[in-house]
Amino acid sequence: MSFAKEFFRLEKELAARYAQTKITGIGMAPSVLFIGLGNMGFPMACNLLKKGFIVHGFDVVPQLKSQLEKEGGKVVSSLEKTASTAEVVISMLPGSKELEELYVTKQNLFSFLKKSALIIDCTTADPETSRSVAAKGEKLSLRMLDAPVSGGTTGARQGTLTFIVGGKKTDFEEAKTYLSAMGKNIFHAGPAGNGQAVKICNNMLLAIHMIGSCEALALGKSLGLEAKTLSQIMQASSGNNWSLEKYNPCPGTMEQVPSSKNYEGGFAVHLMAKDLTLAMKAADSSGQKTDLGKRAFEIYKKHKEDGFADKDFSHIFTRYIKS
Ligand code: NAD
Repeated sequence: MSFAKEFFRLEKELAARYAQTKITGIGMAPSVLFIGLGNMGFPMACNLLKKGFIVHGFDVVPQLKSQLEKEGGKVVSSLEKTASTAEVVISMLPGSKELEELYVTKQNLFSFLKKSALIIDCTTADPETSRSVAAKGEKLSLRMLDAPVSGGTTGARQGTLTFIVGGKKTDFEEAKTYLSAMGKNIFHAGPAGNGQAVKICNNMLLAIHMIGSCEALALGKSLGLEAKTLSQIMQASSGNNWSLEKYNPCPGTMEQVPSSKNYEGGFAVHLMAKDLTLAMKAADSSGQKTDLGKRAFEIYKKHKEDGFADKDFSHIFTRYIKS
């Protein structure tokens, strides 16, 4: 090993040890079982590692586990075995179906976890499913929080996510040790499932302002305006919103966002369509009218069916550009 490599390794090790001492005051790093190492889960798990936590990573896709190992994580070969000693489990799965499968049905993780383990599920799921899974866990003396996030893959990479947490306040206080290593705004929204309820309201609004921003930028283009100039002016005007400010959907107007990377990575169209399905289900069951939410749902559903399921959700811009 070269001197430079060895120096770099030692520096990393020392930084991790220092962080451990800061977390616990005694130099013993808390360990976490992290399940779901996709676009969001992987950078979140990396931030835990950077802050000195020991992370055991699991995903049904084996390459994602070895990717985490390169960052200093520990690969889980037997999920059941690692779960049986885990104090804290964090999951970041595609949606409600996978959430139920992981904890209750297919992988049935609840039956392997030890009593009083704390489970922090960051998946965006149906509030009903989230509440019913948490209730099943509680019957087995397990403690479960729903903690969906906002802030996208950039927030996940930079450790600036917003966590919206549902569940018992005492569990919430304990979870903050872990969540603050991955995010900067951490809210307690009330009992189990409330984190999910807030999240689906937020994402319905996100879909609406993303589509609105695309329409405004496309109209500007048709009127001969330059997208970058139009974006700058709207950002300083009353049309400003998150999609325009942090996630511009027009290629070339902003660096490091999916629109400038062929709409790869980021927040997939199929996941936005899923969240809008959840919002529409919630609107139906509560008898709430959501005119624009319903339209946004139809637009994203069609975009998914048209073959763009895996593109970032800002790809909806291409629907509005005249060829
Ligand atoms: P993703 O599809 O990239 O990652 C999900 C991962 O979970 C995949 O790697 C998949 O293999 C793994 N997985 C699925 N079932 C599993 C199981 N049973 N056991 C272990 N691993 C399993 O999705 P993502 O973009 O990381 O999103 C994850 C969640 O975060 C979703 O609920 C999404 O709605 C939400 N979310 C995403 C973003 C974003 O910008 N991508 C932003 C906010 C919230």
